[in-house]
Amino acid sequence: MRTPLIAGNWKMNTTVSEAKELVHKILKVLDKIENVEKVICPPFVSLAAVAEILKYSSIKLGAQNMYFKDKGAYTGEVSPLMLADLCEYVIIGHSERRQYFNETDGLINKKVKAALEAGLKPILCIGEKLEENEAGKTEKVVSRQLYLALADMDRLSGTVIAYEPVWAIGSGRSATGEQANETIGFIRQKIANLYDRVTAQNLRILYGGSVTADNISEFVKQIEIDGALVGGASLQAEQFISIVRQTADIRSHLASG
Ligand code: PEP
Repeated sequence: MRTPLIAGNWKMNTTVSEAKELVHKILKVLDKIENVEKVICPPFVSLAAVAEILKYSSIKLGAQNMYFKDKGAYTGEVSPLMLADLCEYVIIGHSERRQYFNETDGLINKKVKAALEAGLKPILCIGEKLEENEAGKTEKVVSRQLYLALADMDRLSGTVIAYEPVWAIGSGRSATGEQANETIGFIRQKIANLYDRVTAQNLRILYGGSVTADNISEFVKQIEIDGALVGGASLQAEQFISIVRQTADIRSHLASG
């Protein structure tokens, strides 16, 4: 069985002191929850301070973005090498980066490759827009994004995929567990076609889009869904703890049953 993963994407929220405060609120309880990989992704400026707090804990750190070059004259950018010192994960291709910062599939491909080369585990985000969903184009869109993001890559190593329908992000309108399970099963099949069955079976694919403590169970009880990428709810300590705890409980129940 694949170990479930719950990742909190704090987006552009929290000052350094607020980030430290939030980590202190979740640390003790989350640290003790087993059988779920727990990852938090604070803003760049808080990574070093948060890494220090998490040093001896089971909670892992991720960044929300990176550039694909290792160093050089790229003012304002953060490189994979800089992150590899601090983090284990990095979110790549989030729909907000695609939408507001014009990130293309080609750029995302470069970033995924650079992350792996630096020893980081990319959390690659893919997902369709509302109009694409309504036009029945979900599978077409996610397979295109997948093929382009993974172009010329012969191994996935620790890559994680997050299926995040754009219409579900920050909207309070999540997909249903069944819808997400179906699309994630489709993505896994595409990975089997691109690579092989073992790679597809070992790959963790998360759902993301308005996940809360009230609906997490709907997703993690599904056979294809290996956890969640959580935005808004990860900024509330009790919500995030409850999401992780429910995931651990449901998964251990499924494993024993
Ligand atoms: C996200 O940021 O990836 C996300 C899914 O946000 P939210 O949970 O707020 O919809």
